[in-house]
This record gives sequence, C-alpha cells and structure tokens, in this order.
Amino acid sequence: MKILFYFNSTTLPDTIYKGANTYIGIVNLYLKTYIEKNYFDLAPKLEWALPIQVTLSDDDLVEYIEKEDPDMLCVSYYIWNRTILSQQLKRIKPRISKDILIVAGGPELDVNVNPDFFKEYYFLDYAVYGPGEQAFAQLCECIVEGKEPNPFEMSNIAWHDKSKDETMLAGFKYVPQSKVSPFLENKEVFAEMVKDLRTQDIGIVLTYELTRGCPYSCTFCDWNSGLTNKTTRRKGTWEQEMEMFVDEMGINQFYLADANVGQYQEDLDLLEWMRDKNLNENAEILFDGNLSKLRKENNLKAYHLIGQGSLSMHFVISLQDTNQDILKNIDRPDIGWLEHRRIIREIKPAYPHMPVDVQIIQGLPGQTPDTWRQTLTTVVAEGVVPLIFMSELLATSPAARSAEYHDNFNFKYSTSVRWFDQHQEEFSGKFPESCFSFDREDVITMTLLSCVYTAIAWFRNFSPLNEPFDQEGVVDDFLASENYKWLRKNLTDNWDHRDKYYYTIGFMGEDRISEPLSACTPNGRTASNWCQNSRFLYFVAKNLTSNYHKSKYIKAHLWPQSFVPLDIYGVDATRTKQLSLELAQDEVKPVAEPKGPGFLLTDEEAMVPQNLHRLDEIKRRQQQNKADI
Ligand code: SF4
Repeated sequence: MKILFYFNSTTLPDTIYKGANTYIGIVNLYLKTYIEKNYFDLAPKLEWALPIQVTLSDDDLVEYIEKEDPDMLCVSYYIWNRTILSQQLKRIKPRISKDILIVAGGPELDVNVNPDFFKEYYFLDYAVYGPGEQAFAQLCECIVEGKEPNPFEMSNIAWHDKSKDETMLAGFKYVPQSKVSPFLENKEVFAEMVKDLRTQDIGIVLTYELTRGCPYSCTFCDWNSGLTNKTTRRKGTWEQEMEMFVDEMGINQFYLADANVGQYQEDLDLLEWMRDKNLNENAEILFDGNLSKLRKENNLKAYHLIGQGSLSMHFVISLQDTNQDILKNIDRPDIGWLEHRRIIREIKPAYPHMPVDVQIIQGLPGQTPDTWRQTLTTVVAEGVVPLIFMSELLATSPAARSAEYHDNFNFKYSTSVRWFDQHQEEFSGKFPESCFSFDREDVITMTLLSCVYTAIAWFRNFSPLNEPFDQEGVVDDFLASENYKWLRKNLTDNWDHRDKYYYTIGFMGEDRISEPLSACTPNGRTASNWCQNSRFLYFVAKNLTSNYHKSKYIKAHLWPQSFVPLDIYGVDATRTKQLSLELAQDEVKPVAEPKGPGFLLTDEEAMVPQNLHRLDEIKRRQQQNKADI
C-alpha cells in the first residue's frame, strides 16, 4: 500500500526565522518508525512516497497524486490551514481517477467530541484524533489485510459507516513519546525530505519535540486535545539528533515543540550545546518555542543561554494576563507577573540586542476594558513588545469541552472572518464576542487598546531617541482623537455589516480595502501602520516627559537618516522633509492629515523591520558574547 502525505505548509515570512522557510512536515517519520518497531508484518507492505511539503495548486496536486498513484492521502489539520485545506480536498477529490482514501489527523480535528463531524468533513474517509501512531498502524493493517475496521479493536480514530449512516468512534488511548528517534531511525527518508525542500530553495524550520504532552490544562489550550495530562519523554537522543541536523544536514532553525522547554536538565544541555555551536562555530542556530512555566531557576538559565548564544530573534515571555483572578479563571499555572518582571529586568539590559516579547491573550474570562488596559499598561511600561493573541475557541480545549467553564463564564463566540497578517488572507475560527465580564462593544474597545499599546511598543523600539514619554498620555490622546473614531467605526461597521473583524482603513483613515489590517494580531502590519505616521508621532511628542525640544524630536523621527527603520526601507524624502519643516517650530501643533498612505513602510517590509536590526545585532553580539564568556 502506498502512502502519500500532503503537509500543505505555507512559506513563512521572515518574522521569526531567517529567510523564506517552511515548517518541514515530519509526521510520516513518526508513523513509519512506530510501525517498523511495533508492526513487523505490516512494515514491509507499506510504501512511503516522498511527502508534498508546501501548498500546491489544485492542478499541481492532482497531477502529483496521479503520478505517484498512492492508495492513501494523509493530511494534517491546524487552525491556520483548516479552511483552505478542506476547500481544496473537496475540489480535488472528484478529480482523482483512483478511489484513494483520505486520512486526516492534527489538533484541529474534533471528531471525538463533535457528532456532526463527518457532515462537515464528508470528504474524509478516516479522522485520527490525539496521538496517531497506533491508530494509523491499525488502520493500515485493516486495509492491507482486507479486514473491516472495528472501533472496539482500535483507538484514536473515527470514520463514517455509510451503510449504517453513523460515525464509528474508537476510544482514546495514550500513546507515549517514541523512545527511539524517528529522525535517526529513518535518516535516509528524512535526508530526502530535506533535499526536496532545498531543491525548491525553501529554508527549513524543524519542529523538534522531546516531551509529549503537558501536565497543565490551561482552558484556552488544545495541547493535550483535552484527553490527558500525561507526559512522556525521549531521553538520551538529542545530541546525536542535533549533530545530524546541524552538522550533517545544515538545519539550523528549530521550533522546540515541547510545551515546557527547560523543565528537564537535558533541555538546558541542549540549549548550552546550541549556544556553544553559535559562539564557537558560528552555526547561526535560531529557535522559537515555549519555556517552562514553573521552573523559574531553569527558566532564567534558559533565557541566559538564549541571550549568550543569540539563539532566538527575541525573548518570549508567556504571560497571558497580569491579573491573578483572570489567570485563575483559565487554570493557568504560572509564576505571576512580578517574577516575569524580574526576569525581564534581568535579561533586557544583559542582552539589549534581543527584544523581549510578552505573549498576552485578549478575550479571557474576567477581562474588562479596564483590566485589559491595566495589563497593557503594565506590560508595555517595561519597554517590551506585547504579542497579543485573540482568545480562540479551540475545538478540543477545556474551554470548548467543559460545561462548567461555559456555565461559569457565559461565553458567546463570533465566527466572523479575520485577517491573517502573515499569510495575508482571511481565516475563520471562533473568538469571544461576549462573556460575563465584557460585551461586544468592550471587545472593540479592548481591540483598539491592544493595537495602540502595540504601536507604542513598536515606536519605542524604533525611535532613534531614548527620550521618555508618558505612554498613558499617548493612549488618552489617541482615545480622544478623530483617528480613534474612524478606526472604531470602521471595525464596528465591518463586524456588524460585513461579518469581518478587521480594519479596512489605516491609522490616518486611508483606504485599505485591498490590503486590510489585522485587528486581533496587531504585532505586524497593524502596529507598523499605526506608529509610523505624523499624527502618532505628534501624540508621542506632546507627551514627552523630558525637556527635549518637541519640534526637534519630531524632526528627528521624520528625517529618514535619523529614524532607522525609515532609513532602511526608504522614505518619500520630499514628503517627510516637508512635514518636518511644518513642524520645526517651537510650538507643537497637530500635523495636517496627509492624504493617501499614512505610513512609511510597505506591507512586506512591515513584517521584518525588527529582524533586520536583530540579525545584524545578533552577529555583533555573538562575537561580543564569545569574548565575554
Ligand atoms: S498553554 Fe502551555 S502550559 Fe498551558 S496547557 Fe497549553 S501547553 Fe500546557
């Protein structure tokens, strides 16, 4: 039986990693290794085609499938590909000449809790939930041996029995993390996959997991698919794996996919190895990932290793909210804001080349516009960038499955489409429209606050002058401004009348219908658009708390050679010169609203400015750290 994986990845913009990259799909390695180690009779009867990694057009996908002639097409569902993948599978299935099976897995499938699953996903033959190794092996065994699948003899899988017109759902079984390395066991296959991406000139980010599962149950999270809190780990393989990835295959960008990196000493050993590789061999290793929630001593050690080796584009602190009551409402195990603040205050001055990003979530139970502003005020005042996410209702998270959560907090969700900044396309999901502590109007207020505080953080990062300003004064001026009224009206109209929750105008009211701006993830084009215009600059200048001359301050930011990001990306020098002349007076006055675009970076550029600085800085600091250690 021939198996073909279609990973349907999209090339990532240069925001977290360097260059055009994609997350290389590796599920096939896990499944193949599991079968080879546990299903000895089955293993030789399976043929594994080279997976398709990136998104193909319908025509190309059909052509590839016809050429490879598989018996089974396997796909993975995530929140970001759910809609486009389903639409594509519906379109291509009737075009494939052979009656192949389509098997899906991934965290976004809620087949175990959704009785109507196969009405929506009628084009799937089988859906795997939770860890899929055993379910996949059992399914392959049935097909190869020509047996009817039996839900009582299987686990973690479901299908629609057409003769009975009902869903067959096998029970859940925990599958521990593989003790053997799927990468080392199937090195040749993996090398082929790497080569395939390289020949397409696509950089690779490798998702690397040592620990499966998370011991916690934060209500918003689907890490465990709401099934178990067990964790298991593969031990003793990381060094051999890393040597193969980095030294033999030249892979140097990783997503460390454990829920709590730093929980184990081995994690710190791994980070130390990476640091030394960067410092001694200039390996340019970069990673992103989630650090341990509670082991603060390890956490701090991990941050230092990251800083010393410049192992990331940024430090990430996973906070969610500063308010303890809200953290309690979401069952968040955490060390609290004060401990996070202590870490920020230690790492920020120690590694000034690396920005600190603090992840927070809008739409949690207990939040109000006041508590949300308080959280934003507290976080942004530390000179960090808030990475704000809208609380998604993930199908298999405790928030979606717990009746108690639902009853206690009385959530109502919106399915209006939103704008995915990175991919520049619409996406849909469920996000909070109201709950016991906020209503629909409050959601809009909180969204506008998210955007303006993120814009302030961006402004602070990019300003060539380190002059202090009253950030609350800037927010108050914004809330009293025409810009606020335009943006609020635009978002409200789009939500109420067009079922879209994003902006179709920019900060200065300019038309962005064909290039919308995200309302729920402002850290990107939205923040760039908001903070880079004369009106925003005016709000900041007005609220300077030092004696710096306000007009000079404005001029310093308007002149391209002074305001570094503008310098990098090129500015309409005539326009900025004219603006700065207008403002070069003792008395600061509002800038006349420019017509046309009110921003200075292009949209593509807006996604990368931090990184261009960061990469140069990272190189410089690597050399400096090498000398320091
Ligand atoms: S948010 Fe992190 S700590 Fe909480 S359940 Fe998910 S993975 Fe675990």
